[in-house]
Amino acid sequence: MRHASHAAALLFAVAAFFDPAAPAIADTVDVARAAADARRAGLRVLEGTRLVLATDRPPRAGDGVDDLPAVFEQAFEAWCRHFQLDPGALPDWKAFGCLVVDRETFRGAGLLPDAIPEFVNGFCDRNRFWLMDQSSPAYRRPLLLHEGAHAFTLTVRELATPPWYTEGIAEYLATHRLDTGADGRPRFVPTPLPERQTDVEQLGRIERIRSLRRARAVPGLADVLATPPDNHRDIAAYAASWAAVACLARHPHHAAVFAACERGPLDANFTARLGASPGWDADRAARDFDAFTDEIDYGYDFARSAVDWSVGRPAAAREQLSVSAARGWQNTGLALEAGVRYALVASGTVRIGALPAMRDAAPTILESTADGISLRWYRGRPAGRLLAAQWVDEPADGGRPRFEVLGEGAAAMFTAATDGPLYLKVNEPPGDLADNRGTLTVVLTPAPQTPRQPGSAGSSGP
Ligand SMILES: [Zn+2]
Repeated sequence: MRHASHAAALLFAVAAFFDPAAPAIADTVDVARAAADARRAGLRVLEGTRLVLATDRPPRAGDGVDDLPAVFEQAFEAWCRHFQLDPGALPDWKAFGCLVVDRETFRGAGLLPDAIPEFVNGFCDRNRFWLMDQSSPAYRRPLLLHEGAHAFTLTVRELATPPWYTEGIAEYLATHRLDTGADGRPRFVPTPLPERQTDVEQLGRIERIRSLRRARAVPGLADVLATPPDNHRDIAAYAASWAAVACLARHPHHAAVFAACERGPLDANFTARLGASPGWDADRAARDFDAFTDEIDYGYDFARSAVDWSVGRPAAAREQLSVSAARGWQNTGLALEAGVRYALVASGTVRIGALPAMRDAAPTILESTADGISLRWYRGRPAGRLLAAQWVDEPADGGRPRFEVLGEGAAAMFTAATDGPLYLKVNEPPGDLADNRGTLTVVLTPAPQTPRQPGSAGSSGP
C-alpha cells in the first residue's frame, strides 16, 4: 500500500530534478545499518555528523565529493535556523545519501529498493535520498542539498505540504554560495537570493523568471500556490516555487506572517492556513510577488525595493518631490489621472556607486544627474536616470501587472496610464541600492499645452 501511495502521490517529474518528495513518514531509515550495507558492497562511505554519503564514484582529486558531508552539516545548521530549531535538540538526526553512478550497484547492495520510483536526477524518502552523479561540483552540490533539504523537512518537520512549498522551500534552503573559511575548508553561505551571477549554484532561476516575464508566461502568486503536483514538471515550476518562497520569506511585509505559518504544521492545509493567517493580505502579496518577478535580479534587496501601494491624493498644480537613490520604486503620494499629460523637471545629483580602486588611487565615486550616466546601463537605460512609472494592473500586452515607465530623465512629459499613484526611482539594479546616496528634486506640473492652443495652458490641469 505504501508503495502505491508513493507512486500515486509523488510522480512530479522535472527536467532538471526529477525528485518527487516522499510523504512524511514518522519512522526514519537506520543510517548505521545502511552504511554497513554500503561498506559490505564495496561502496565508498563518507561519514559526517549529519550525513553519511555512499557512492560508487571513484575518488578523484578536486571533485569536492569528500567535502560534501561537512558542507551538509553547515547547511543543516542553516536549515535549523530557518525553522527556529536548536540543532542541539536534534542530536541524532542524520541523513543517508547515495551519490549514484550505476543504479544497479545500489540495487544489488539493497540500497535502492524497487519501491523507489524511477527518477532522473534525485529522489528523497524520509531521511535517505539518492542523486545521480552530476558533471560538475556546481551541479552536484546544490542537487545534494536540495534532496537533503527534503530529507530534513520531511522528517524533522514531517512536511506534507502542497508542491509549491515542498519544492520551493527545498530550493530556497539549498541555494548557497561556497566560500573558503579561515581554516581553508569550504564554507556554506546561505544566499536565499543569489548575490552574483557567478554563484552558479543558483542554477539560472533568476534568468528563468526573467525570460518567463518577457514571454508573458510568468505565473502570479495565486497560480504558484495552486500548482498541482503533476504540473511540477519543469524548471519553470521550480523557479516560480522558489521565487514565491523567497518573496514570502524575505519581503518585509510578509516575512513575519510567513515565518509564523511555517512554525505551524507543514501539512496539506498549509496554503489554506497561510491564507487565513492573521495579518495575511492576499491582494498585497499577489502584487508584491508581481513587483518582485518584474524586477527580479541578483541580490534583490527586498527591504529597499518594498513598494508602498497607498492610493495617494490628487496632484496640485505644482508639486515638489524628492526621490531617494537608495530605494526602488517610491510612491510620490500623488494620484495621477488617466489620460492627463504631466511634465517632470528634475535637478540634483546622486551617488550611485563607485568604481573599484586602482592601484594608487581611491575608488572613483559614480555620481549622476537625473539623465543618468553613459558609463553604465541597466535594462536598456543609463544607470542613475530618473524613471517615472505607474503600476498597471492590465498591461496592453496581456502580461502580468507591472510598473510601466512613462517618463525618464531630467525633463520629461508623459501621459498618465491609469488613475493611480506616480512612482519614481533612480535606475539601478535592485541589488545595488545599498551604496547609493542622495536625492533628486522633482517638480511635477501639468504638461504645457501645445502652442496651437494659445491661452489654454493650465486650463485643463489636474
Ligand atoms: Zn525536490
